Amino acid sequence: MRNENQNILFEMGCPECFSSAPFLLEVRGSPRGVLEDTTIARTVEMWDDGFDDQQLTGHTSWDEDSPCACVCGYKGTARDFRLVSALELLARCADQDEEQS
Ligand SMILES: [Zn+2]
Repeated sequence: MRNENQNILFEMGCPECFSSAPFLLEVRGSPRGVLEDTTIARTVEMWDDGFDDQQLTGHTSWDEDSPCACVCGYKGTARDFRLVSALELLARCADQDEEQS
């Protein structure tokens, strides 16, 4: 598995196709030209070095439960795209295979 993410998407990858970017990630932020305390959710194309969205100001946030999708069609949450959890999942599947045989 090859993964070059070093910044925002550090240790993240698609558990389905192992792509490292971009991901369609739902982030929360303040819309441009609106009061600071207004927060909207937008799905952006997130790359390791950030995203380009004209609707949002620079202050955005997302967490492990934010909806995240890959261009291959895989959908989940940001947590599902953690390589660590993907590897754990593989290990768990391997355990189940052993139990069945
Ligand atoms: Zn994928």
